[in-house]
Amino acid sequence: MVSLSIGVDGVIPIERYEPEVQEVFAEVLSCPQCAAHTGLRLISEQDTALIRCPLGHEWTDPHITAPGIRVLWHHSAAGMAPVLRPPDALTPIALPKLDEDRALLPRPSDDECEAQPALWDWELDVHLHGDTPALVESLRIARSLANFAYYSDGGLFDSWCPELGGHALDAHMSIVALALAIYDCARRADQFKIGWLPLSEPLAALLPTSAEALRTVRPLGFDEHEGRLRITDTRRLDQADDRQWSAWCAMARRIIHSHLNVVDRRQPVVAHGRELPSPTPMLIERARQYWPDDTTWYGSR
Ligand SMILES: [Zn+2]
Repeated sequence: MVSLSIGVDGVIPIERYEPEVQEVFAEVLSCPQCAAHTGLRLISEQDTALIRCPLGHEWTDPHITAPGIRVLWHHSAAGMAPVLRPPDALTPIALPKLDEDRALLPRPSDDECEAQPALWDWELDVHLHGDTPALVESLRIARSLANFAYYSDGGLFDSWCPELGGHALDAHMSIVALALAIYDCARRADQFKIGWLPLSEPLAALLPTSAEALRTVRPLGFDEHEGRLRITDTRRLDQADDRQWSAWCAMARRIIHSHLNVVDRRQPVVAHGRELPSPTPMLIERARQYWPDDTTWYGSR
């Protein structure tokens, strides 16, 4: 994992909760040895986050996490103002952008749609329920899951971040592979609320034994502009060699694992002295963030 280091201008405000008096105090981060509170440097080493003062003292603080430093680093590399957010705050989309032609596949003819009546009916149900084409909703969920994984999994961050020698195309195709897995699992289950699928289902669809089938999934979409794959993505799905496709599917599985890791760390709920069985984690629970461009970032408009 690449170490990141960011110098911070000015002070770093934090809020500290004192359980004894049950109050939150506004403070600035300061060195426990020399009390320096400016000229601090934030450093991520593997999954550890360090703060270093100008005199070289180093310490840790629960407000400063390795994922938080990755988000700061991404935003400053992208020319955005770096804002330190609380460790559990929702994080704006921080994925690398892929600049390419956005044209979608042309709409299939009515004859082609009618030749796949079960698929057509299911896509219609999804659209009627959520006012969003099935592929657009699958991509939205995949992108939201990937955004969390990007900063919480340092290996994915290194692989995708262009400023660290990573590839925006790998980020994009991992999201497309995950979206196709979500779309295909929901279709097979005849589930029109796509978010109500267990995380484990697309994970299984992305395993080497089953993922080859995803390369031929071609959503029908609804009008001239939405719900179908980009022409560029279709070409990559058709032409990528097996090694490349396996790498994208492995990254897509890693996205899901970063969420399962969070779910696995939860304390079990105990009632009447007994541990309750943990509920099966669903996509909707982990892809709960909506962004203003969610339904347009992929389409041609
Ligand atoms: Zn110091």
